[in-house]
Amino acid sequence: MTEGMIIKGIGGFYYVKTDKGVIECRARGLFRKKKITPLVGDRVKIRILENDMTGYVEEILDRDSVLVRPAVANVNHALIVFAIKNPDPNIWLLDKFLLLAEYQGLDATICFNKIDLIDGEDIEKLKEVYQNAGYTVVCTSNKTGEGIDRLRERLKDSITVFAGPSGVGKSSLLNRVQPNLELQTGEISKKTKRGKHTTRHAEFMELNIGGWVVDTPGFSSLDLNFINEEELSHYFKEIAHFSQGCKFTGCRHDKEPDCAVKEAVRSGEISEIRYKNYLRFLEELKQKRRF
Ligand code: GDP
Ligand code: ZN
Repeated sequence: MTEGMIIKGIGGFYYVKTDKGVIECRARGLFRKKKITPLVGDRVKIRILENDMTGYVEEILDRDSVLVRPAVANVNHALIVFAIKNPDPNIWLLDKFLLLAEYQGLDATICFNKIDLIDGEDIEKLKEVYQNAGYTVVCTSNKTGEGIDRLRERLKDSITVFAGPSGVGKSSLLNRVQPNLELQTGEISKKTKRGKHTTRHAEFMELNIGGWVVDTPGFSSLDLNFINEEELSHYFKEIAHFSQGCKFTGCRHDKEPDCAVKEAVRSGEISEIRYKNYLRFLEELKQKRRF
């Protein structure tokens, strides 16, 4: 059997990248019986039929992660993009994306784009908040090309999903990172549209430098209902760190006067912006529980 990764799925066909090229495969009936759907991103074992070089997906290897919207497996990196202006960054939404990335166990990089639109200093404070929280921050401009090399470095050898509101420059960035990438997907999606009732699934696009990018922005559903109050602090990187020193079991880090997290906020080790957003999420979760 040959090992590979599903990079595209169209109407019951799976396109599996192997060292013998991309093989068009069907899934074994067994999966349908077991109600298992192969996902784009799945590492699979396939059996290739020598006569026409099509194949059958025989086995799905263990998944490292599963995203729901888009439905893809094995993504390990989220690039969270906000513009520094036009539109102004929404920090609440940024923290929400980070929370979802942490929840999924993804490595996250924050990208502040459109830095050609502001003076350098305007961005430093924001950058510092997130670097102190433990994130890599890249500042980019599609106009001047600044930061694009650093961005490429972050994408290299990872499986990345882009996230962020519309209009912040996600597609422009991808195009800057690798100019023909958009074109390829454009052609593919045009072809797919011509098919009859084919569902459009997310696809993986391969980077020349190594690594993959999902062609559809991630976390389109921002519902946090599945997270419980006690766990919330696990998904704030720096709060999770300081909560280890908190001696109150089950502490929500909001009321106890001697809480280690609150102490870190007082000393400036945790930024107030992040802490306030944490409290706001906590409040939202508490409200929901009441109904
Ligand atoms: P997306 O919706 O996140 O994919 O954003 P787009 O890539 O479509 O970009 C939205 C708009 O922002 C377009 O008009 C782009 O030309 C513009 N834009 C993207 N990147 C930059 C940038 O770095 N600087 C400036 N000034 N404009 C940008
Ligand atoms: Zn505490």
